[in-house]
Amino acid sequence: MHRRLIVPGVLAASLLLTVPASAADHSPGSAGIGDPYYPASGNGGYDVSHYDLRLAYQPGSDLLEGTATLIAAAEQDLSRFNLDFGLKVSEVRVNGKKARFETSGSHELEVTPAAPLAKGSPFTVVVRYADKPSEVKIDGYTAWARTPDGGIAAQEPESAAWWYPSNDHPLDKATYDVSVSVPDGTQAISNGVLTSQSSQLGRTRFNWRSDKPQATYLTTLAIGKFDITRDTTADGLPIVNAYSKDLGANAGAARASVERTGEVAEWLSDQFGPYPFNAVGGYVPNVTSGFALETQTRPFYSPKQFAKGANTSVVVHELAHQWYGDSVSVNGWKDIWLNEGFASYAEWLWSEKEGEGTARELADYTYAQYPADDPFWTVRPGDPGPDNQFDAAVYDRGALAIQALREKVGDDDFFAILKGWPAAHAYGNAKIADFVNYAEKISGEPLSQLFDTWLYQPSKPDAAGARSAGISTRGASELPRPKSWTKIRAAHAGHRD
Ligand SMILES: [Zn+2]
Repeated sequence: MHRRLIVPGVLAASLLLTVPASAADHSPGSAGIGDPYYPASGNGGYDVSHYDLRLAYQPGSDLLEGTATLIAAAEQDLSRFNLDFGLKVSEVRVNGKKARFETSGSHELEVTPAAPLAKGSPFTVVVRYADKPSEVKIDGYTAWARTPDGGIAAQEPESAAWWYPSNDHPLDKATYDVSVSVPDGTQAISNGVLTSQSSQLGRTRFNWRSDKPQATYLTTLAIGKFDITRDTTADGLPIVNAYSKDLGANAGAARASVERTGEVAEWLSDQFGPYPFNAVGGYVPNVTSGFALETQTRPFYSPKQFAKGANTSVVVHELAHQWYGDSVSVNGWKDIWLNEGFASYAEWLWSEKEGEGTARELADYTYAQYPADDPFWTVRPGDPGPDNQFDAAVYDRGALAIQALREKVGDDDFFAILKGWPAAHAYGNAKIADFVNYAEKISGEPLSQLFDTWLYQPSKPDAAGARSAGISTRGASELPRPKSWTKIRAAHAGHRD
């Protein structure tokens, strides 16, 4: 996963002079939402409830033109506020009136409304823009993947700044209407349900709606020439999958994996409770990257995920995130284990159900893979730091921590916790400490030492620690290799690209 340098926004104190005297008590919203891993991510002083994105894209030139309308509310008396955005802006209006705007930091758009905003008041922001996202570098990088027939926005922890202005942090989730005009014969895919589609004068407009709170990095846009399959689950949930027309040798394996989305979502609902969103699906564009991402309702899969054949493990992983990561999102990026530990453990549960190796066998084998002096054990999944946010330890040791919990509390309490947690924090945000408290409440067991051992110590849990987690201390060569091991490896390898 890409990570970037941190350049906090610069406070333009001189702007305060332009605020009318009657607004002396108003102050600028902060340039970051307060996440120590990414101080410039998100912004302070307001909360967005809805994004309406009306876009037009030219695949030949990569020109993206847009009008973004944000429905927000002030959380303090605001003289000015920031949006996170990298593209060229031509106009900003707040509550219908032209607003002053300027750029600062690595991706800050500072907006000064004509009139200050009172705490608690709703407001509407309209931003007009046009640019070529593949040419927009933020800290030397673009998250926009241009393809031979279009472009894709799917990255973690940030991708929004290359296609719409936002409060770019999982703490500020919102609903979305995404409307995209493309030349006839090209498709535009986003999250949720396709509410309508119409053609006129050689262009087709696709209107997508995602009607439950959604984090900015989980909002995706895929433009290109796709084959689209549609179905409904047994519960009546619409399934929309999309495959680039030029996946080459990976085309069959991609379909053989992603077409099982409905089946996997149904099984996951048995593990984690009712599916939280209005649609499900996945898409495989013709990108050159290797990773997959849990974009809400419609995960993104790189074709390379299927280079060695069908891989249901990666589908299980990304769909598990719909509960663990998407509905219940991190409070700060240090809480990444709540996403990746559980999505990885879901692959172990699927393996167990498929008769390809139990979670305990996979835990034994995983523990044996890494000798005590391997740097793997120095990364603490409970607070890995921004440079190691997507390290193997967050996934593998993260799943071991969950197996240790299962051994400690027993299957009845364990599966009650797995199902109860997404309901307890549905559509919200949570910290690892919240999970530990919840698991203690359900199981009645003190668990802080267990989680300290598996999530927070910078060393390999010793033989006693392993035994107390039901994990074998035999070497990898003495253990049978679980049948699912190779597929699970392949699914995880992509995440670490
Ligand atoms: Zn994941």
